[in-house]
Amino acid sequence: AQWVYGFGNGSAQGDASMRSLLGGKGANLAEMSNLGLPVPPGFTLTTELCRYYYDNGHSYPEDLKAQVKDALAKVGEQTGRRFGDAEHPLLLSVRSGARVSMPGMMDTVLNLGLNDVTVEALAQASGDARFAYDSYRRFIQMYGDVVMGVDHHDFEDIIEQIKDERGYVLDTDLSADDWKNVIARYKLLIEDELEEAFPQDGEEQLWGAIGAVFSSWMNARAITYRRLHDIPEDWGTGVNIQAMVFGNMGQDSATGVAFTRNPSTGEKALYGEFLINAQGEDVVAGIRTPQDLTLQARLSGHNQAPSMEEVMPKAFSEFSDICQTLEHHYKDMQDLEFTIERGRLWMLQTRIGKRTGKAALRIAVEMANEGVISRDEAILRIDPRSLDQLLHPTIAEDAERNLVAKGLPASPGAASGQLIFHADEAESLAAQGRRVILARVETSPEDIHGMHAAQGILTARGGMTSHAAVVARGMGKPCVSGAGSLRIDYDKEILSVGHITLKKGDVVTICGSSGEILLGDVPMQKPELTGEFSTLMGWVDEARRMRVRCNAETPQDAKSAREFGAEGIGLCRTEHMFFDEDRISAMREMIFAEDVEARRDALATLLPMQRKDFTELFEIMAGLPVTIRLLDPPLHEFVPHEVEDIAHVAPSLRLTPEALQARITTLHEFNPMLGHRGCRLAITYPEIAEMQVRAIFEAAITAAVKTGRAVQPEIMVPLVGLREELDYVKARIDAVGADVMAEAGRSVDYSVGTMIELPRACLQARTIAESAEFFSFGTNDLTQTTYGISRDDASRFLADYQRLGIIDHDPFISLDTNGVGELIEIAAERGRFARDDIKMGICGEHGGDPASIEFCEKIELDYVSCSPFRVPIARLAAAQAYL
Ligand code: ADP
Ligand code: MG
Ligand code: MG
Repeated sequence: AQWVYGFGNGSAQGDASMRSLLGGKGANLAEMSNLGLPVPPGFTLTTELCRYYYDNGHSYPEDLKAQVKDALAKVGEQTGRRFGDAEHPLLLSVRSGARVSMPGMMDTVLNLGLNDVTVEALAQASGDARFAYDSYRRFIQMYGDVVMGVDHHDFEDIIEQIKDERGYVLDTDLSADDWKNVIARYKLLIEDELEEAFPQDGEEQLWGAIGAVFSSWMNARAITYRRLHDIPEDWGTGVNIQAMVFGNMGQDSATGVAFTRNPSTGEKALYGEFLINAQGEDVVAGIRTPQDLTLQARLSGHNQAPSMEEVMPKAFSEFSDICQTLEHHYKDMQDLEFTIERGRLWMLQTRIGKRTGKAALRIAVEMANEGVISRDEAILRIDPRSLDQLLHPTIAEDAERNLVAKGLPASPGAASGQLIFHADEAESLAAQGRRVILARVETSPEDIHGMHAAQGILTARGGMTSHAAVVARGMGKPCVSGAGSLRIDYDKEILSVGHITLKKGDVVTICGSSGEILLGDVPMQKPELTGEFSTLMGWVDEARRMRVRCNAETPQDAKSAREFGAEGIGLCRTEHMFFDEDRISAMREMIFAEDVEARRDALATLLPMQRKDFTELFEIMAGLPVTIRLLDPPLHEFVPHEVEDIAHVAPSLRLTPEALQARITTLHEFNPMLGHRGCRLAITYPEIAEMQVRAIFEAAITAAVKTGRAVQPEIMVPLVGLREELDYVKARIDAVGADVMAEAGRSVDYSVGTMIELPRACLQARTIAESAEFFSFGTNDLTQTTYGISRDDASRFLADYQRLGIIDHDPFISLDTNGVGELIEIAAERGRFARDDIKMGICGEHGGDPASIEFCEKIELDYVSCSPFRVPIARLAAAQAYL
């Protein structure tokens, strides 16, 4: 089998379409080679080899050695060097590369092939002994850490010791002899720790590094990353072995990272950072502060150091041409890594760049406008969940700002929480429902779980492309990075800046859009939905078939839902209207009424209140459909349960506390979710439903008169299992409606339908549809009743189910399209059989979940309904499902 694919010098055995086999990095290195771009030659070991390695007890197939040998020889030819040669040694980088990028999750070894002999050759060839020994010590350090398992801090300590001894400040202060000294101490460290010497043999080094990269696929941080990003374990990683190029060969050498457009804002401008006389991870690790790439960026930012455009104009112009070529070729924003060796540019990586939700939107819209992609492609490029980020709050403009410090605006949105300095603690506090801000000097892959748990991330070191910044943007979390004035002390768990000292647990607010760090819990404000957002949403609205409504009962929710583009109300839960202070007592009087007369009196107090509620909703919805559900929950939810509350409430009900307690006891149910609720209430207390229906009709007439637009109330009967239940309630609705219309001398175009939320209703949908003009799938209850799992108790064990792989997602969050979905399909089909124009939609949590929305499109529902904030997400998901 072919385990090895070569690339470099204008051609390659692979290409960009082979990312499953070669991994993303390998496939793109091949593609760049094919495009004739300057890529150091090398070869990729396939992900199939990684699977072989794991399936065969960490061993390799017989034919691999020969293939690697050939490939190495070829790289040698292309570079005029030979691996292991004492005079012209070929040095290598060994890098991981999975099908999707897992930034910093796995290990890289640079400068491989150096040993006591070849280092001399490197010194000779470069004419720079300092550079050669620095490279060698980097190699020992990386190899010692990644392959041999010696803690990298121990190596760092040795450098610090030497700096202290010599009184140096920067790593670059060390001379060639100092580095030799470091190397000697490194070797001793390894021998002390492992009782074996650092390998001098190139072959041994190479196979050690290959094994380490394959093994890194199973290290803890890679496993965590895969779990968080739903990446299957059996994908495996490729290994990219490539000739080294050196960015640390002096002032005409450099290394850098770039995005073809700004990954934070989406602005069409080359964006990135570079470091002169530096290698590899130096930029990302935040060890020295990098310089801007473009003059424009330097002038508009606060980095005083000259830009690449100024100090290396030739390499810069070649590089910016390559950026354009690659962006055009891939038709998307690229994230690039490059190195300049003695003025000569080399491309080390390109991939589709990660970006914030805001940037994604701007880039997609601008690329469609530039004609690079179609509008449909633009729509399909936006992850609906990323819109959430845009709808994130920012710090209120008029809020009082107690500025602690300012860092880089690394990932937008604002967040408040308690300062925590350690990832584990952030995780455990978040699990207890606390809001935390994780503060670190800089983050590393070991901090991922804490970053995930935190509301926001704050670092003292590192640029816009530091680990913290990249990971936070990927997670959609606010992040302020590189706040250089902060001093963080992990042991004392304090953060200080000037004379301010904050300790663990103190509340701060960070704004990842401005870089501000503020004292306390600062008020936030809603985002503006203009510009690219409204452009894209316009395209989305043209592209989708399903309507999107909102679940809303308060005027405020209804208004914001309209701003978010809701096309009506799909679920108005009337019970929410009874919890206000002035209403709950009338409600209680109604519940505890001795007889129908007394109950009607209490209902008469509630009637004008409900009428006002509905009138407002109808006015806001201005002619759009509004589905109002009759009272659904069991009545005991409205009564007091605590002894003090009972004593307090009793007098207003003209009852003794004992008498009230007795009444409450009679309302008690063993399993209220399956008890006296839904249409069962309307059947035993029809006067409640009659009051609500009267309020609906009167409001519809009032609103129609006021707005001049016909109001279309859809009256929805909950928890129907029997057609007879619906018929009984519908007769009351029709009768009250007829009365009100007669009194007003106006007609109302109303319809009566039902929630479908019981398995029996799904099965009997044909019969029920003979009476129901619409179905609204109440998938929360339908999931509970189909699974026989109470939603309120599910969290105790569903997490274990997920961990054990018994279910792969929570069915209350994303619709179980197999089981619950099958019932919905049956109901939809049978309902349409009885009434071919029956209107059907879904309400409940699933109405805002993209995967569930895709299912709704598949079975051709008319609309989905979700909470106001999710309306844009649902619009986009509906368009994507239809395209
Ligand atoms: P990651 O997946 O973590 O980005 P990479 O495989 O991109 O890891 O390697 C990390 C860094 O190592 C690169 O950004 C680059 O600076 C450096 N590097 C990789 N290959 C080479 C090479 N052939 N020559 C010089 N530097 C390299
Ligand atoms: Mg990289
Ligand atoms: Mg329900």
